Amino acid sequence: MKSFHEFKSTYTLPLPELILKAAEVHKAHRDYRDIQKCALLSIKTGGCPEDCRYCSQSAHYDSPVERVPLLTVEEVREKAEAAKAAGATRFCMGAAWRQPKDGPEFDRVIDMVRVVRGLDMEACVTLGMLTDGQAERLKDAGLTAYNHNIDTSRRYYPEVISTRTFDERIETIKAVSRAGISVCSGGIVGMGETEDDRLMMLVELANLETPPESVPINCLMPSKGTPLQMAPKVDSIEIVRLIATARIAFPTARVRLSAGRDQMSRELQILCFLAGADSVFFGEKLLTAPNPDATADAQLFQAMGLPTATPCESPCH
Ligand code: SF4
Repeated sequence: MKSFHEFKSTYTLPLPELILKAAEVHKAHRDYRDIQKCALLSIKTGGCPEDCRYCSQSAHYDSPVERVPLLTVEEVREKAEAAKAAGATRFCMGAAWRQPKDGPEFDRVIDMVRVVRGLDMEACVTLGMLTDGQAERLKDAGLTAYNHNIDTSRRYYPEVISTRTFDERIETIKAVSRAGISVCSGGIVGMGETEDDRLMMLVELANLETPPESVPINCLMPSKGTPLQMAPKVDSIEIVRLIATARIAFPTARVRLSAGRDQMSRELQILCFLAGADSVFFGEKLLTAPNPDATADAQLFQAMGLPTATPCESPCH
């Protein structure tokens, strides 16, 4: 069992020591030059019955996000082909649902997964809570990973979401693992939680029977109309420390520098890679939030001396 104290003593190491330790773990377990480029597409936008206080897609808040019904399989194919041409090796699709209903829409998502896998890309979806049967159908369609973030610590969770419980979240993660699908689960920083809450979140994930193979660390992107629209920015060094701690806690996982990159300097992003992050989302939008454009990312990878992605016009909507 991983303990909070273990993670805390790692997190509070002098920063150079922490980064060096994370870099050593990274080098020992993964190819540190391999930073995966993922594209993220919102396949059903807005009108979500959940009340996540950070989310512009919740129907509980008056945000300017336009509702868009479930895309067609052909629309997804076009976006996935464009993302692949731009260098993405993983295509993630998000639907603003509490849970998918069995029926024509879920069948369509299954077809979307097949299409993405047919393009020889990893496919990840995030659809809300799942039953065992739904997880098995996604597995049969070839789904690589299911994203289901726990967002924050168990104790802080009710401050962020009231329409579902932390345990319901864990139940879906278990259903995904039982079906043999790889779990992608992480959280968001900057929602008013403490640094300890962030570490408790990592401890919860590390103590799952099957720890996630993918751990996204998102920085809150305050959205107009949501209760967290005025949330202050998180200190950059806290982000670097959290990524380094996540790398040490999950040596073989992808630690994903996810939402919030558009607010980060090139140097801060590079520090995050040194601390063990090895994945970015690229494309001009992350579901409904802005992201660095593909040209800026190509320049970033070039500056680091890493293979660049071909700049892409619009991999995501
Ligand atoms: S984060 Fe997901 S579940 Fe929560 S309101 Fe937004 S779309 Fe719905």
